[in-house]
Amino acid sequence: MSSAPFIKNLPEKLVSRYKTWKSEGFDGALFGDLAGGQSPMAMVISCCDSRVQSTEIFDMPAGSFFIHRNIANLVPPCAAGGNAPNAANNTASALEYAVKALKVPHLIIMGHSACGGVQACYDMCENNVAAADTGFEFVGHWLETLRAAHDRVSGDDDATRLVSMGHEGVVESLDNLMSYPFIAEAAAAGMLSLHGLWHDIGPGHLYALNPESGNFEAV
Ligand SMILES: [Zn+2]
Repeated sequence: MSSAPFIKNLPEKLVSRYKTWKSEGFDGALFGDLAGGQSPMAMVISCCDSRVQSTEIFDMPAGSFFIHRNIANLVPPCAAGGNAPNAANNTASALEYAVKALKVPHLIIMGHSACGGVQACYDMCENNVAAADTGFEFVGHWLETLRAAHDRVSGDDDATRLVSMGHEGVVESLDNLMSYPFIAEAAAAGMLSLHGLWHDIGPGHLYALNPESGNFEAV
């Protein structure tokens, strides 16, 4: 089926807001410089969730972060030879470009509260539901990467355990990063440091993984 009948004009709200930004918010000097190339200080892997805005919470301008977003901010383990399923290849491609071409010095995995992906995988694990039986053909399969995090979840109630699952998901993805040879090499050479964050959306709190304690501590 052709997409042609369904392609419409941009919603007026977006046209209006773009024009306001272009006339009032556009930093011509900044974007003029950026037009010549990018040199971001970090790669950020965050969730697709519309409430997660890494550039906004750090008040960082365009050109600062090379951002890859996927459901539940996951990094699947490396599949040698670039033969991972397409979804995993998408994440691997972004990692490869950021580390090998852009040579970002920091790689940040940022989880968040009330994550639908974390909730869905938590439910899969707690209720022994197979990915194929979730009713979400693609999401269920994608979330398999997060299952390993469930083994380490702690807490007495679902709310506490869900926060723990979110934290452990970030840790799982940080561990999986090291399975990519170009990341392990850059880290070992002192060219790349890894960071784990978790953003509590409602109160705006940010927690960082303390490498010494192993806990997520308030920034
Ligand atoms: Zn999410």
